[in-house]
Amino acid sequence: MMASIAAVDAARKQKIDVRVTIIEKNPFPGRKLLATGNGRCNFSNETIEEKNYRGDLKLFRSVYPQFNNAKTISFFRSFGLESFADPAGRVYPLSKKSESVLFALRYQCEARGVSFLCGTEISSIAFSAEKVLLNHTLSFDRLIIAAGGAASPGHGTDGKMFDLIRSLGIPVHPIYPALTALILKEYPKTLKGVRADGTVKICKDGSCLGEDSGELQFTEYGLSGIPAMAVSEYAAKNLPGDLTARVELAPNLSKESLFESAVRFKKDFPQAAPLLFLTGLLPEKLARWVLQKAGSGQVQTMGDLSSAQLKKLIEAVKTVSFTVTGVKGFAFAQVTAGGVGSDAVNPETLQCKKYPGMFFCGEILDVNGDCGGYNLQWAWSSGFVAGKNCIK
Ligand SMILES: Cc1cc2nc3c(=O)[nH]c(=O)nc-3n(C[C@H](O)[C@H](O)[C@H](O)COP(=O)(O)OP(=O)(O)OC[C@H]3O[C@@H](n4cnc5c(N)ncnc54)[C@H](O)[C@@H]3O)c2cc1C
Repeated sequence: MMASIAAVDAARKQKIDVRVTIIEKNPFPGRKLLATGNGRCNFSNETIEEKNYRGDLKLFRSVYPQFNNAKTISFFRSFGLESFADPAGRVYPLSKKSESVLFALRYQCEARGVSFLCGTEISSIAFSAEKVLLNHTLSFDRLIIAAGGAASPGHGTDGKMFDLIRSLGIPVHPIYPALTALILKEYPKTLKGVRADGTVKICKDGSCLGEDSGELQFTEYGLSGIPAMAVSEYAAKNLPGDLTARVELAPNLSKESLFESAVRFKKDFPQAAPLLFLTGLLPEKLARWVLQKAGSGQVQTMGDLSSAQLKKLIEAVKTVSFTVTGVKGFAFAQVTAGGVGSDAVNPETLQCKKYPGMFFCGEILDVNGDCGGYNLQWAWSSGFVAGKNCIK
């Protein structure tokens, strides 16, 4: 929809008569958009830097400045969609409803005469003398592929478009699920449902591949929540392999200060159970498990814990290591890492090098961002660039 709007606007400026059709296999376009940001559509972020993205950053560097977060916010405001940023800088529509974004985009398309051909899946693409032929019947001068990636197939993005693109001889960088959950070995299912603040690091051969902090969600198979999702891509790219997830709890307290608190608690309340000390720091289920992990599950009172046992207890709060055996696949993932890169498209225009009548935008390109509005921002920025340039 963004690419269509940009295409019509660019055509009008150049006084070119253009007809644009959005072909969507779902009954309506933007189904995934409705699910974003827990239904609130976190569509951009106040602070966007290269470090928020991974993949083929040549594309990001050329495309993003052409239609950045400020331009995106004022673009939406120009047709009445006001927004606000939460304290973390995540930008949402003022209504806190993703349908506001979808309605606004759809109206802007309709107002520009864009047609919608819904319930139609593109399953073949062919090129002949300056024309693009879709499904052997639909003929166009230009084609913009905005088919998303392979993540969240329930929203229409099953990754089949990657196969179609490959079959045209266009290279596609290997794809992985990103912003997904970690599957852990020897993980206690009793932790299911626990939420706690912490840091998670993905480590291989002693070095840290990536880390993130925030609220961790313990599930029946492993770890979810924003920090686990943020590092899942590093796990996905290095599996199978010897990977560890190091979880550090009580992130705002140093080992030293925790140890001092433990010593003080022991002195003041020697008859109290060690679990009581830990429940001052962690949810009870997690506290029980940390106590077992530290080997002090049978110790009755704080007074019975030696200094070495106290140290071990604090060590267990600060670093728990799990073996990572997998990540939840594309069905669970929010985005796709990998895709069409700068070897296949011109990074300035997103025009396909092999077939000049074809352009790409959005998640199908090899650019993926952090949680926080970065992926939709990429869709807007790249949609604008592909739409504008396909008119030339
Ligand atoms: C649950 C969830 C929550 C998310 N929340 C956020 C968030 O809050 N903020 C954020 O920035 N990002 C979020 N994302 C990621 C973001 O939604 C995507 O990165 C973004 O939608 C990608 O936009 P796109 O236009 O490239 O593709 P999509 O939005 O995936 O749209 C692609 C469209 O192409 C259609 N299609 C695919 N193949 C064909 C075909 N062969 N023929 C016809 N039509 C086809 C699909 O049906 C789909 O409608 C979330 C993702 C999910 C799954």
